[in-house]
Amino acid sequence: MLPIKLNFLGAAGSVTGAQYFLEANNTRLLVDCGLYQERELRGRNWAPFSVSPHTLDAVLLTHAHVDHCGLIPKLVREGFRGRIYCTPATADIAQIILLDSAQLQEEDAEFKRKRHERERRKGPFPEIPLYTVVDAKASFPLFTPVRYGEAVPVGEGVSASFHDAGHVLGSSMIKVGVSQKGENRTILFSGDVGRWDKPILRDPSVFIKTDYVVVESTYGNRLHEDLPDISDSLAQIINSTWKAGGNIVVPSFALQRAQEVLYYLNELLREDRIPHIMVFLDSPMAIAITEVFKRHSELFDKKMSQLVREKRSPFDFPGLKMVQTVDESKAINHISGTVMIIAGSGMCTGGRIKHHLVTNISRRESTILFVGYQAIGTLGRQIVDGARKVRILGQHYPVRARIVQIQGFSAHADRDELFTWLSGLKGAPRRVFVVHGEPEAAQQFGEFVREKTGWQISVPEYGTEALLD
Ligand SMILES: [Zn+2]
Repeated sequence: MLPIKLNFLGAAGSVTGAQYFLEANNTRLLVDCGLYQERELRGRNWAPFSVSPHTLDAVLLTHAHVDHCGLIPKLVREGFRGRIYCTPATADIAQIILLDSAQLQEEDAEFKRKRHERERRKGPFPEIPLYTVVDAKASFPLFTPVRYGEAVPVGEGVSASFHDAGHVLGSSMIKVGVSQKGENRTILFSGDVGRWDKPILRDPSVFIKTDYVVVESTYGNRLHEDLPDISDSLAQIINSTWKAGGNIVVPSFALQRAQEVLYYLNELLREDRIPHIMVFLDSPMAIAITEVFKRHSELFDKKMSQLVREKRSPFDFPGLKMVQTVDESKAINHISGTVMIIAGSGMCTGGRIKHHLVTNISRRESTILFVGYQAIGTLGRQIVDGARKVRILGQHYPVRARIVQIQGFSAHADRDELFTWLSGLKGAPRRVFVVHGEPEAAQQFGEFVREKTGWQISVPEYGTEALLD
């Protein structure tokens, strides 16, 4: 067997910027091509690709989160002309996300250019967008949808198949098969591993056999403790805010989280556990992604499929309003009585949520409800950390609204769930590579698996190469 080359070009020693290079039988593949989001690593987004884009045969994309697909427009602009294989839902969602990302890059560059001009200084990165809307659109024709379970040939004796990861709609684990003169090897990329018994999505796929595994470890050293039930928490928050006469403002990510919130609301309404308030999904991106969900009902789990069949879909219940225009969004402020507003961005760093915070954050009767992770340095984090006063759109506002965070929504498997996933393997793989985690999480998860199984475990460093034989 001629060695197979695997290079850890991103999300090794970090959780964003997923990028792995695999070379087998002269076929050159990139698994994921993600954007770095950690502040101290963002410079890498500007660095030249480690592998010349025009020499690559294909990209295999696990899912549509920007830390997995966000550098694709740059890859295409710099010469990549191969196919981008992913599931049909990932293709649809990734295009929405890449357009949004390009728009943000353009706005950001313009904002920085003006600020630096005013302050007569230069920033660490060029004041041009990392890529533009035109660059993003140029990548769309390369997307090549592949259904779950179908093995597609991606090179001479090299195939790839996609399997439901249960993380976000369309998300995949990817199994690459390599055959050389009658000998076969498989390399399994976990992508982001989802969780069991989550609404809407099916459980993560489990594998019985593979030669190599590349597994994520975002929560490799943590356990999702026994958290209060999401429905109970949500019902309590809505009922008490309704009694007080305020609004419930929910900063939410557009992919998966917004749809999950709608799922729980629909359930509470049907069970008559909350009053029939109006619910506004005030995010064009979340609305577009919800449309993709509606088009891909074949991906739903049993319970969700049944809801759709019985015309009780969480994406279409009485009182739910999709808010497209800015004028409609502003009009929400004039409604009296309690409403719920779900808007982006999820960490309050931009988007329409800012206007709703301006209207509600100083009202004692309103609630700001966080349903997702809030990174250090974001407005969302300041609010959940208990700031008494916050600056929004250039003005200061005292925080008087009730601030609540529901923790149970995570889309990532914890340590035990990751181990359950690996434990599906009936024989020891030749090697397990632990990636996509903070160094400590990756190390500790590697140790944990080694102790439990005695398997060969590596925690590769950024930029290193492994030879698989
Ligand atoms: Zn993800």
